[in-house]
Amino acid sequence: MSTHDSTTGTTAPRSPEALERALAPLAAALGDRLLTPAAAGFAEAATVFVGGPPRIPAAIARVRSTAEVGTALVVARDAGLPLAVRAGGHHQARHALVDGGLVLDLRLLDGVEIDAAAGVGRAQGGVLAGAYTAAAGAQGLATGFGDTATVGVGGITLGGGIGYLSRRDGLTLDNLLGAQVVLADGQVVEAGPDENPDLYWALRGGGGNFGVVTRLDLRLREVGTVTGGMMMWEPTPAGLATILRAFAEGPEEFAGMINVMVAPPAPMIPAELHGTPVLMALLVHSGTSAAADEALAPLRALGPVLDGVRELPYAAMFEGAGGPPAGGVGDARTGFLGRGVWAPDEDWAAAAIEAVSGAAGPAAVNIRPMGGAIGRVDPAATAFAHRDPAFMVTVGGSAPAAEALPATQEWVASAASALGVAGRGYVNFMGAATEEDVRNAYPEATLARLREVKREYDPGNLFASNHNVRP
Ligand SMILES: Cc1cc2nc3c(=O)[nH]c(=O)nc-3n(C[C@H](O)[C@H](O)[C@H](O)COP(=O)(O)OP(=O)(O)OC[C@H]3O[C@@H](n4cnc5c(N)ncnc54)[C@H](O)[C@@H]3O)c2cc1C
Repeated sequence: MSTHDSTTGTTAPRSPEALERALAPLAAALGDRLLTPAAAGFAEAATVFVGGPPRIPAAIARVRSTAEVGTALVVARDAGLPLAVRAGGHHQARHALVDGGLVLDLRLLDGVEIDAAAGVGRAQGGVLAGAYTAAAGAQGLATGFGDTATVGVGGITLGGGIGYLSRRDGLTLDNLLGAQVVLADGQVVEAGPDENPDLYWALRGGGGNFGVVTRLDLRLREVGTVTGGMMMWEPTPAGLATILRAFAEGPEEFAGMINVMVAPPAPMIPAELHGTPVLMALLVHSGTSAAADEALAPLRALGPVLDGVRELPYAAMFEGAGGPPAGGVGDARTGFLGRGVWAPDEDWAAAAIEAVSGAAGPAAVNIRPMGGAIGRVDPAATAFAHRDPAFMVTVGGSAPAAEALPATQEWVASAASALGVAGRGYVNFMGAATEEDVRNAYPEATLARLREVKREYDPGNLFASNHNVRP
């Protein structure tokens, strides 16, 4: 049997013959959808959004049904093959790849059913946020995800899901009404308030630790035309503090993210700002246009250098929103600031601008207002327990090449520490997945309960390529 290190994603090799024998039942079920390294399509399927040191899976199973998921899990478990589960492939810690193991690629499980009458959207486990949002938007409905179309609904929901509608409707996981889950032994179970409620609790924040979610039932809300888009300003501490206060004190319909970042050479950004630090907000106000104008007034009074905010269908916020280019090497640390209705002061804003100005490569301090509906949920009600913070802050950096990664990691660590966000954090934004990161993601009581659920549903820790809750 091979040995696997879930922190580094590496596995000791096994013989090709032993591997072929182990995979035979899966090869019989999947045919040419079981990709080995020589197969066409393997390289694409072995590439995730974030680059890094090679992690070359022994095989990738492009499953198309719940039954095939079960077969793949049983094969991996019986053969002692390390397993990774891939949906959108966006996790910064590259959980979706496992060196020498089996990747369960869910992307062909891409069905979406929008049941407007029931107010429920049903997404298969490999659906992407943009595809779901377009389908729901066609009926004037939405479930809130983040800000990026290519993120997987599975990954974002199981870890949290903070975005344009979170202050109004809660995190994505607060809108998870139920799920179908394939367990490590291939058994298919339902999780919801009345069926396996312990599993339902753990899925809402505990990530992919408990099984493969093949169907997510998500609450839909009416969201038609919104006021949204991008605004950009030259970076001043007073300006940043004003923007953050406007979000903190604004209505719950008003949400988004603010980046302190070096402006990329994008055509919509004035050329003289390329390569210089800027403040950039991506925002949505989902109330009336008059209420939006009022909430946006302090931002507009700062004299933005770019104001692309306009009325548009909510789903249009996800069109072409792929985020930064895929394949870059980088690091990220995340944490929380303040409590209740609160905003960082000008000193903090100055430190954020200074940190980004001093970065060697592309870097950003990403600031997301929390509060509202996120904070109204009891911290014990879901495995996402960080309910009271006012802001979530993520410090991220990209390295131009793998050799420059240590310098980027050093910058990320020092900027996170300077900005007071080096401790507890949001599991979906963590660039590393050590045991310390797991302890930072989950308060002690939450982690203890997660481990209890893990012992019940995955005692053998088949689902280990994640922020791993050990049984
Ligand atoms: C450009 C970019 C923008 C982002 N924006 C936001 C944002 O606005 N808000 C926010 O909250 N987050 C955001 N994220 C973070 C994102 O939520 C996480 O990276 C999330 O894990 C991505 O899910 P995925 O399915 O794309 O990734 P993957 O890497 O495919 O999945 C990550 C892990 O989740 C688990 N998983 C995924 N699907 C399933 C499933 N169906 N069943 C069981 N386990 C599963 C597995 O353990 C898997 O390894 C962003 C990330 C990037 C790179």
